[in-house]
Amino acid sequence: MIARVVVIPAAGDTGTLDYTVDPGMEATVRPGMRVLVPLGARRAVGIVTELADASSHPRLKNILAALDSQPLLDASMMQLCRWLADYYLCSFGEAVSTALPGSVRISIERVVKAVRPLPAVGEDGRTAPLPSSAAQLLEWLTTVGPQSTRAIEDKLGAQARAALAALRRRGCVAVDEEVRGGDGPTRHQRYYRIARELAADEARAWRHKRPAQYAVYAYLQAHPLRRARAAELNATFPNATAKLGALIRAGCAEVVEEEMYRSVLPAEVGDDRPVRLTAAQCDAVKAVRDGLGAFRTHLLWGVTGSGKTEVYLHSIAACLAAQRTALVLVPEISLTHQLVDRIRARFGERVAVLHSGLSDGERWDEWRRIARGDVAIVVGARSAVFAPLPHLGLVVVDEEHDAAFKQEDGIRYNGRDVAVMRAKLAGCPAVLGSATPAVETFHNGQTGRYEMLTLPERVEARPLPAVDIVDLRRAPAVGKLVLISPRLVAALKANLVARGQSLLFLNRRGFANFLQCLQCGEALLCPNCSVTLTLHRRMRALRCHHCDYTIAPPDMCPGCGGLSLSAWGAGTEQVEAALRQMLPGARVGRMDRDTTSRKGSQREIFAAWERREYDVLIGTQMITKGHDVPGVTLVGVLLADVSLNFPDFRAAERTFQLLTQVAGRAGRGTRPGRVIVQTLQPEHLSVRCAAQHDYHTFVEHELAARRELGYPPFARLVQIRCEGENPEATERMVRAVATHVAGIAEKGVEVLGPTPAPIERLRRRYRWQLLVRSRSGAAARRAARAASEAVRRTARTAGVRVLVDVDPYAML
Ligand code: ADP
Ligand code: ZN
Repeated sequence: MIARVVVIPAAGDTGTLDYTVDPGMEATVRPGMRVLVPLGARRAVGIVTELADASSHPRLKNILAALDSQPLLDASMMQLCRWLADYYLCSFGEAVSTALPGSVRISIERVVKAVRPLPAVGEDGRTAPLPSSAAQLLEWLTTVGPQSTRAIEDKLGAQARAALAALRRRGCVAVDEEVRGGDGPTRHQRYYRIARELAADEARAWRHKRPAQYAVYAYLQAHPLRRARAAELNATFPNATAKLGALIRAGCAEVVEEEMYRSVLPAEVGDDRPVRLTAAQCDAVKAVRDGLGAFRTHLLWGVTGSGKTEVYLHSIAACLAAQRTALVLVPEISLTHQLVDRIRARFGERVAVLHSGLSDGERWDEWRRIARGDVAIVVGARSAVFAPLPHLGLVVVDEEHDAAFKQEDGIRYNGRDVAVMRAKLAGCPAVLGSATPAVETFHNGQTGRYEMLTLPERVEARPLPAVDIVDLRRAPAVGKLVLISPRLVAALKANLVARGQSLLFLNRRGFANFLQCLQCGEALLCPNCSVTLTLHRRMRALRCHHCDYTIAPPDMCPGCGGLSLSAWGAGTEQVEAALRQMLPGARVGRMDRDTTSRKGSQREIFAAWERREYDVLIGTQMITKGHDVPGVTLVGVLLADVSLNFPDFRAAERTFQLLTQVAGRAGRGTRPGRVIVQTLQPEHLSVRCAAQHDYHTFVEHELAARRELGYPPFARLVQIRCEGENPEATERMVRAVATHVAGIAEKGVEVLGPTPAPIERLRRRYRWQLLVRSRSGAAARRAARAASEAVRRTARTAGVRVLVDVDPYAML
């Protein structure tokens, strides 16, 4: 039998390799499992992609070992990986590596095991006594069981090598090269327990001769669990490890390891709030329920607060009733919390969470729970689209328009689009929900590719909030640098008196604090990236938000030596300080990258906000999405037009979505909400339509503009970007790519650019890009693949990276 194997992590463009399978292993090796294979002079871990009877290659090597007892990827996940590689123009190995959690990319470890006790001096013909570190090591290995060489080095430091060598020479330890069960960083809890009960006279003798050891034995024997952890024993007995070692050697105690799952969910579950579905919700649920069992994509277009989540929950219930599992994707980690709470309240414990905020070990635990079929529902951010749910019956993507679904590293996949393909391969429906569907998605709904389900009103006939636009050109802000107009201040004060909560949104991207010299006009730039450095007052630091370059704010201009450096712009931090002055007595919270860098802090701030411990919450993008907090009656947008000025064909769409989403946070409870939007461009269509909650007018205009300009969904784009430290080589490479695309002369395929990227330099690299455009996505991808592969080798020698991005989002 032949096994096709793809090595992970992907080693270049190797593709799949053929290996023979020993007759003895034929029963155990199946597609989707990890195997250990020889690769040149080394050994590598790979995934079996398929089994075959014959190979076209002569002289194949043997698979060395199977590392799993169950496939990690089932047949449909394997198909999904094939599609990923084909669609996103990467190798199959890269696709498989992307689909698997990082922790399966295990290394091969050398594991040391104690095999016999120390010989007495002279007994083995040697007279030199062992170094004391060797005896200590053997003692330790006897007590705790086999250990990796790395763990031994951690314990003994510089003496590890000599100690190990001495023990090997005397045959006291055996060293295996081993993939430790192939189970990644699984956490084991180590216990000590009684292995053999002592007979009465034996016990008496022991108690008499070695009372301290006997005490440990007695403790274990009398223990209510009849076993104890090392930490517990160490806390109870001085030098417990040595005493346990003696008990183990005498065969009365033993070490047991139990696999444990790290719990990533909070212990308490909230209350379920069952509701009676509205007529529109009922129709939507019925459409999904009737379509279970076949692939179909539904676009659930419901205004903010229309009860989309309730539609998901009912659809999930129908899916579970059909003995199938459900996958729910949200754009951000913070949104998983709220949704997981609601799902657990309704469906109980068979829920798993997957997102990048988990440690490798936590993610691996959740992954195995899912793969073993212990889980009925998975909730997660982008990468959860690869959750190994068996019997998948429903895929939900909430806030499907969100750019966070787009992966901007490695394989640049869009989690939403992969989710739809996953549903297709599983033969089940996908539900894409949004108040502001992506223009492409809406177009698919209009043309009938997706089935459109609409929730046109908020539940219980709650009104959408009234939106006031403040023209900042006429209403000067209070204070020079902080953007809070008198109208917004008045509204904040009134809302405080009325005991409502106020949410203030500042889109800080490209609008942070920076330092500028009033003499020569130079702004302080990052030396690695062509962007201004951001001033963080509390940390007294200037910092680049792209590469993390950080310096103390200088006293004088590095350009002209002038002494009047001035801070411009307003960051969330500054707004927070201003608010505290304007609203004495108000409880003000802030949520942005700085206040949420610690694990779990975002969840804490958000929980406090829900419990009404803040009157005002100021924040960046993080606060705009999804959250359902009934106490919010005022939303302020400090500067609506920030995102309008981005050099990106989606700038208008993004701005509209952002404003609609943030406005949608207001008035979700029984009291109506109000929104104040400050802007320098009150006449802009995105601003006007968002103020009127008018998605329809906006999307019609936007679609017309896209058609006219030839942008998606009326054309498909592939971006190719070249990045290198040498500006000339980088430019030469991007021009070579352009020439190749033109030379391929694929019908209807054109090149836009090349141009320097809007951020021309990032992390010391110069950046050039071009777009391959065609009405046919397949033609654009074919041309892009051929052209990027044609230059790959020269690019590598020239030190230029060539990055391919299918359906690009980030134009910066
Ligand atoms: P969306 O996701 O569309 O913005 P949610 O699903 O968060 O809206 O629902 C908004 C609020 O309305 C939630 O508090 C939810 O519990 C409540 N809700 C949903 N459906 C109903 C209903 N049929 N009747 C009463 N309340 C509902
Ligand atoms: Zn930088």
